[in-house]
Amino acid sequence: MSKMVKAAVVEGPGKIGFREIPYPKLEYGDGGAIMKSIASGICGTDKHTFKGETKQNGGTATEFEAAYPLIQGHEAVGIVEEIAPGSVRKDFYGEELRPGDRITFCPDIVCGECYYCRTAPWYPWCEDPSRECYGNSMSCEQGKRLNGAFAEYMYLYPKAYLYKVPEKLSNDLACLTEVMCVTYSLDKAKEMFAFDGEGFEFGGAVVVQGCGPLGLAHVIKAKMLGAGTIIVTDISDYKLELAKAFGADICLNVLKTTAEERIDIVRQATHGFGANVVCECSGVPTVVPEGLKMVRKCGVYLEVGHFVDVGPIQANFHEICAKDIRIVGMNNHAVTGYRPTMEMMLKHEHDFPWEKFFSHHFKLDQYEEAIKTSMSPESMKVIVSCWD
Ligand SMILES: [Zn+2]
Ligand SMILES: [Zn+2]
Repeated sequence: MSKMVKAAVVEGPGKIGFREIPYPKLEYGDGGAIMKSIASGICGTDKHTFKGETKQNGGTATEFEAAYPLIQGHEAVGIVEEIAPGSVRKDFYGEELRPGDRITFCPDIVCGECYYCRTAPWYPWCEDPSRECYGNSMSCEQGKRLNGAFAEYMYLYPKAYLYKVPEKLSNDLACLTEVMCVTYSLDKAKEMFAFDGEGFEFGGAVVVQGCGPLGLAHVIKAKMLGAGTIIVTDISDYKLELAKAFGADICLNVLKTTAEERIDIVRQATHGFGANVVCECSGVPTVVPEGLKMVRKCGVYLEVGHFVDVGPIQANFHEICAKDIRIVGMNNHAVTGYRPTMEMMLKHEHDFPWEKFFSHHFKLDQYEEAIKTSMSPESMKVIVSCWD
């Protein structure tokens, strides 16, 4: 009988269980591999799926439902355990991987051959039916079954993008890489400063609406990219305090201020113009009209938070037209961004109180407590370790 692997499984909405799954068999020469999972962060997507909000990429050719029973975990770090015999496995940047190498991976497994894979390889827009997503689209009864990192081992499909982790980067920070790669929307906003007065200039003001892990990642990236005044909004004083520790200048609790007051504060802090960039990181539809009022003329509104379909909102498009607002949607992350992101986190190791980002650490056996804690307003990134 083959070795069994312990996995935390979301059996259905609100229901966590544990299963023993057979250690996968590697196929000769196909480049598949096995990762021994060290730890993984709990992502906003995991919380949505746990709550039963399962529709992703809604209205596109790649719309799918999260697949129960599901092993979650796609913000992970692990060690290459073994590589299929008769094959060479390389990381995303072309370096050969060997057992013992510490890696992280891109959750999206893309075909590399369809229209979007060929024309926009930096982004996992793949529309091939073979496209999959770790911890998300494949149930633990499908394929090689160990399809998420909240298990002792995970199977690395031949086409999955893998990234070597720099030796000095901590496991916690390695788990943060994928989230930080979502902030490439800010790099996109920077590209728009090709003409004066447009987009995200050096010293430009940035508003972040919603300061969970994704919002905090945007605060950090905005600082790294040379933002001036950074203003954040949230319902949690705990999260606002954290944002301050990471460099936010003005923190506004939306339960203690009105939308008019917040818009006014943003204008006052920006010589009356409004913010260069507003990042919507809350996933709450009603914040959008307020955010559009905070953007200056030719400014950028980044829509990052509505990862799952939580319904429509009324907006006055005259406002967008009248101010030439550039709206940038960001549903996923830059697959090209892992190494630069890891190297930049290391470079800025002493510039941020990184350890505060990781509010809670749990063991695999405590997965239910971990995911419930991650939904509390008093938590930031929650990390689950897969081995005692
Ligand atoms: Zn994620
Ligand atoms: Zn493709």
